[in-house]
Amino acid sequence: MAKNILHCSFCGRNRDEVKILIAGQEGHICENCVEHAREIIDQELVGRDDKNPSASFKLTVKKPVEVKKFLDEYVIGQDEAKKILSVAVYNHYKRLQYKSTDGPMDDIEIEKSNIVMVGETGTGKTLLAKTISKLLNVPFTIVDATVFTEAGYVGEDVESILTRLLQVCNYDVSAAERGIVYIDEIDKIARKGDNPSITRDVSGEGVQQGMLKLLEGTDVLVPPQGGRKHPEQKLIKINTQNILFICGGAFDGIDKIIARRVQTNTIGFNVDKDQQENMKKNLLRYINAQDLKAFGLIPELLGRLPVVTHLEPLDAVTLRAILTQPKNALIKQYIRLFELEGIKLSIDDDVLDFMVEKAVEYKLGARGLRSICEGILTDAMFELPSSKEKFFTVDLEYAKRKFDKSKLSLLKVA
Ligand code: ADP
Repeated sequence: MAKNILHCSFCGRNRDEVKILIAGQEGHICENCVEHAREIIDQELVGRDDKNPSASFKLTVKKPVEVKKFLDEYVIGQDEAKKILSVAVYNHYKRLQYKSTDGPMDDIEIEKSNIVMVGETGTGKTLLAKTISKLLNVPFTIVDATVFTEAGYVGEDVESILTRLLQVCNYDVSAAERGIVYIDEIDKIARKGDNPSITRDVSGEGVQQGMLKLLEGTDVLVPPQGGRKHPEQKLIKINTQNILFICGGAFDGIDKIIARRVQTNTIGFNVDKDQQENMKKNLLRYINAQDLKAFGLIPELLGRLPVVTHLEPLDAVTLRAILTQPKNALIKQYIRLFELEGIKLSIDDDVLDFMVEKAVEYKLGARGLRSICEGILTDAMFELPSSKEKFFTVDLEYAKRKFDKSKLSLLKVA
């Protein structure tokens, strides 16, 4: 090859055989070799990550005030739950760090602070747990307590809770051992009170019993693919000592249990009528482990869930804030969606009030806000991408018309 003809120093192709030739200090490289080099780099890096997958789950511990601040960006209100969660999570990870770096220095062992959150559905329980795991950068999974059954029955073994955690971190056991599990609908596995039915309590007390060993912190053998354990399957050993469990549930009717307890406690004390009325309005505020026991959680389980907190029902003011304020608020998401289409979306303030009004009227809660937005905006999202419009404003008249046409308006409860 003649020296003065430009060519790729890697593959030797001449200038006229390639599309691009990038010059370096001593030579050139063509687009084919750049592409090839990229593949080698990707393979090398992925290979390295496989050897040390926990690198992608590096623990970042934040002080309680910082945790709360972060939660404030995504979750509206629920100050008490946020505070309690921030402290519990901070202590949990402090304990974790202290163990891993210093080793047991003396015989004081800081115990785990698994958490129960009680609050109506759609008030932000899952959102809180999810947001925390985002901040701390640990593997996180949500499981539904209702899919588990007592060993020996049709359904999933409780151990498969940990399977899901393993799956999210690509079977990296050490990352999973520091993860967070959110167990939803924990109230649905409550013991069925004084009326035990022979056919029904498969999922109640038995599942609670099964959960005990997961929550307390022992080695648990986990089926890697989940489902039921069977003899031929190779099991993975996971120590649950440092896994934080957050449980959530609506606990329908627990207010009556609290009312009974609070009333008995206040008899004989000088509590005036106003105070009593006030207490009645938000009984959840007074919740404690005793009420959860009366609801049907077994004392052993409650012993392993030492932190109990509650979430407030969402009122119209909170719903209005949820629409626009959180970092990824619904309205911000729609504005972005339209923006990607080159359209500037604006929604009048009275439309936002209307959405909240409907969510309250139809008892749809925060989850319903999304369906309401969809109901109002679907036609626009269908038509506008094919039009030349650059601006789109939703006014009250438009919103009402679209809402009345949507299926949602049929949901109205008499
Ligand atoms: P649940 O209490 O049933 O676990 P979620 O956390 O799943 O409720 O809430 C459902 C949706 O409602 C969330 O994805 C979020 O969009 C919205 N939401 C509920 N509560 C709040 C809140 N306090 N702040 C912001 N968004 C909320």
